Amino acid sequence: MLSITEARALIAQTVHVLPPLRVPLAQADGRTLRESLVAEEDIPAFDRSAMDGYAIRADDSAPEFRIVSEIPAGTLSVRVIAPGECARIFTGAAIPDGATQVLMQEFAHRNGDRVSFTQRDAKTNIRSRGEDAREGSVLLERGMSLGPVEISLCAQLGKTAPLVAPRPRIFHIATGSELVPPDELPGAGQIRDSNSALVSALVQECGAEMARQLRVGDDPAQLLDAISSADIESWDVLLLSGGASVGDHDFGARTLRELGFSLHFQQLNLRPGKPLTFGTRGRHLAFVIPGNPLSHIVCWHLVIRAALDMLATGAVEFGLMEAPLGGGVVLKGNPRETWWPARIAWERGGVNFVPLKWQSSGDTTGIIGMDALIRIPAGIAAVQPGEPISARLIHA
Ligand code: AMP
Ligand code: MG
Repeated sequence: MLSITEARALIAQTVHVLPPLRVPLAQADGRTLRESLVAEEDIPAFDRSAMDGYAIRADDSAPEFRIVSEIPAGTLSVRVIAPGECARIFTGAAIPDGATQVLMQEFAHRNGDRVSFTQRDAKTNIRSRGEDAREGSVLLERGMSLGPVEISLCAQLGKTAPLVAPRPRIFHIATGSELVPPDELPGAGQIRDSNSALVSALVQECGAEMARQLRVGDDPAQLLDAISSADIESWDVLLLSGGASVGDHDFGARTLRELGFSLHFQQLNLRPGKPLTFGTRGRHLAFVIPGNPLSHIVCWHLVIRAALDMLATGAVEFGLMEAPLGGGVVLKGNPRETWWPARIAWERGGVNFVPLKWQSSGDTTGIIGMDALIRIPAGIAAVQPGEPISARLIHA
């Protein structure tokens, strides 16, 4: 049985990165940058005023200055500032030749075309050319995630169509003869399909795309038909929810085999989520995920996300955060590596992971508000309150 670490390493070796594409900045939020972006000029590109005020020569000790030009932002003064002269200047405007300092208008006494100052200090109030970044410097590194701040820098650099990661396209099928759509009243022995909504939200949250989503009963022929009748060019990753175990009605893995997928693992040393199957056929990937909602969440964040990250960025990162176990409870260990739903909370003057109520992997009412999965290594007896533990933040 593979550990989570081994399963992730296997995925990193098996899955190939998808080709990048260029998108307009309006579609770039949340995407991974697949090129490094370089400043093609100094930033700022010219000396400019950081204040509304008067541009003078810093070494000019005249008691009064003659105003020889006015420079609003976006204009350029042709006039060179000579001793005894100044330019009325506004924030963001280019500093005229000759001037080396801007005196704030708050200290100015203006009298017609003359101005004197109640206060002078050494501050230049000039944002010098290149003080933020030099031409040629790499400002956005390949592999970083683009958010609003990074997108605004792209715009500043004139990079209006950055090369970014594509959104992996997901084909999701919820299997189970007990399932009815969530807007229907379940009959005897039936339940509402909640995994479709769950997977759809997880897909969106990580920047992937739901290409196709279906629900089928526990009927191998129907499942086979549903998969093979979808356009093979329309998806990258097939996710089958349910039918992951070895019961009479669990034919997920068998169906994948029949479709020509090579199966790399069919279970992991993991609790919850042990019967997770991973297979590949050419560039297509497939997972069969145990039907319980919490198993879905755990398999998604620990394993499936790794495959999606490989497709999008060609790298798998696995940041864990360490903090004390909160909530005053003891967490019992298990022979299997366990990932326990938890919430980040401020306790005893610091950040703690507080475990949430979890009895079986079918429970979801107790895990509302979860924002982390605590790792309990395989075979340890227990984790005591206040002991340091590692956890995976699930919204990161
Ligand atoms: P399975 O992996 O098919 O054996 O399912 C395990 C458990 O998860 C069963 O109790 C199922 O009823 C439940 N389950 C399976 N699929 C779904 C679904 N789409 N939504 C909610 N629960 C499900
Ligand atoms: Mg089932």
